[in-house]
Amino acid sequence: MCVFCKIVSGEAAARIVFQDEDVLAFHDVNPQAPTHVLVIPRRHVVSLADTEDGDTELLGKLMQCARRVAEMLDLVKSGYRVVINNGAGAGQSVFHLHVHVIGGRRMRWPPG
Ligand code: 5GP
Ligand code: ZN
Repeated sequence: MCVFCKIVSGEAAARIVFQDEDVLAFHDVNPQAPTHVLVIPRRHVVSLADTEDGDTELLGKLMQCARRVAEMLDLVKSGYRVVINNGAGAGQSVFHLHVHVIGGRRMRWPPG
């Protein structure tokens, strides 16, 4: 079972911010900014590239959850970044789809 599936099942601990029947949001264990939350589907999906045309609802729910997390953690006014790393070459290190919600500091562009 992957590390994020273990968080979904409760086998591994996480600081959960929000959850419903489809998605889970929790604080990143190695934050890259004052606020760094990961939003994941409860279902094991390897990456964005592994989603299908029929996954519109799930992908929408991940984005809605990212917005809700930003509201809950007071990132809306200051701005926040929403990132999906797809594939090892883009920095993906956990192969269970996740959306990073990062804020609380000034963001640079382009990302490295
Ligand atoms: P990626 O590099 O795949 O885009 O992002 C994976 C993220 O998961 C990293 O930011 C890493 O710090 C985080 N992470 C890895 N293992 C755990 C864990 O067991 N718990 C939590 N909360 N975050 C994790
Ligand atoms: Zn998984």
